[in-house]
Amino acid sequence: MATPKRFIAGAVCPRCAEMDKIMMFTDDAGEQIRECVACGFTDAMSDTEQPANPELETRVNRRDNQDDHTVKQVVFFKAGSED
Ligand SMILES: [Zn+2]
Repeated sequence: MATPKRFIAGAVCPRCAEMDKIMMFTDDAGEQIRECVACGFTDAMSDTEQPANPELETRVNRRDNQDDHTVKQVVFFKAGSED
């Protein structure tokens, strides 16, 4: 089930650096997606990353500090094809 999109207060877009332009939602595949409404940036968040979502606090993800590489899956959606 997809969740409604909602803005993340204080979130800064990693592409355009605009604040409060990031929405987060869960797509049909259950992936957490960030989307910037200012520049169209989208980012599928893997479960190794803690989303700023208090409803998901039950999922604790402990990892040793290995390399500080941030592994992200970046998914680019075609403009206008959301949903
Ligand atoms: Zn942006």
